[in-house]
Amino acid sequence: AAPLVVAVSTAIAAKKGLLIRNRASFENARLIEAVVFDKTGTLTRGEFGVTNIASSSPFTEEEVLSLAAAVEAHSEHPIARGILTSAEERQLSIPQVSHFQSLTGKGLQGEVDGKEVMVVSPGYVRSEKLSINEESLNEWSEEGKTVVFTLVNGKIAGMIALADIIRDTASEAINKLKQINIKSIMLTGDNAKVAQYVGAKLGIDEIFAEVLPHEKSDKIVYIQKNEGLRTAMTGDGVNDAPALAKADLGIAIGTGTDVAIETADVVLVKSNPMDVLNIITLSKATYRKML
Ligand code: ADP
Ligand code: MG
Repeated sequence: AAPLVVAVSTAIAAKKGLLIRNRASFENARLIEAVVFDKTGTLTRGEFGVTNIASSSPFTEEEVLSLAAAVEAHSEHPIARGILTSAEERQLSIPQVSHFQSLTGKGLQGEVDGKEVMVVSPGYVRSEKLSINEESLNEWSEEGKTVVFTLVNGKIAGMIALADIIRDTASEAINKLKQINIKSIMLTGDNAKVAQYVGAKLGIDEIFAEVLPHEKSDKIVYIQKNEGLRTAMTGDGVNDAPALAKADLGIAIGTGTDVAIETADVVLVKSNPMDVLNIITLSKATYRKML
C-alpha cells in the first residue's frame, strides 16, 4: 500500500501546484527544521518600481536612469525590469551598450559612447571606497528600498531606489512555520537595512544579508553543520542554485529562473510561500501513513 500512498500524494501535490522533482527529498521534507528564504523574488514579488533618483553633477536624474537602463537592458534580474520600465514610462531614449558584462552579485557593466557605465550595489561602491550620499542611502534603505548606483568611468553619477512588494502570504507562511517549530531564515544579496526591514515585517528568526552568490551555499552548510538543522532552501535566482543544491530540500519559486527550477527538488508553481508549509505538511501526512 505504501507506494500507492506516495503516488496519490504526488498527484495531490501536483494538483495543488507543488511539482515534486525528487521523491527522496520530498520524503525527507517531513524532517525539515529550518527554512531558508531568498528575499528578492521569493519573499517579495521581485516586481520593482523606481521610487527615487539622485544625481551628482554634471549628470541629471534622467541621465542616471537612462544610462542605467542601457546596461540593465542586458540583464534578467528583477532590478533590471524595474529600471527599464521606469525609463520607458518617462520616454527616455536608451543608448546602445557594447562590451556588456555581468558582475555576479555586484551588478553590471557596459560601454556607452566610449564611457564605462556600471550599475552596482552599495556594497560594491563601498569596497571601491567611493564617497557616497550616505543620507539618501540610509533613508531609502530604511524604507525597505533596494538602492543601486550608476557609475560612469568609475565615478558615481547617481543612485536609484527601487521598491518591491512583499508577497501576500509570506507573513502567514513564517508564522505557521514558527507554530510547528521550524526556524525561518532570510538569505539575501541585498543591503542589510533592506533585509532588516523585510525581515522585521515578516517576523523572520535570522537574517544573512549582503551575501554574495557564491557564499549562499556556504551559509546553508553553516546552518546544517553549526546550527545542526535539517535545512530547506527556497529561491528563484541563478545565484540561489548552488544553495538549492546543498540544502536537504531545494525549493524553487515557479516564476524563477530556469537554473533554479532545474536544480530544485520541488517547484512551487504558484510562487506562493505558503506552499513551503504545504510540502512539509503533505510529506508528514504521506510518510506517517507508511510507518
Ligand atoms: P537576492 O539574493 O536578494 O535575490 P541578488 O544576489 O540577486 O539579491 O542581488 C544582490 C544585489 O546585487 C542587489 O541588491 C543589487 O544591489 C546588486 N545587483 C544584482 N543584480 C543587479 C542588476 N541587474 N543591476 C543592478 N544591481 C544588481
Ligand atoms: Mg532572488
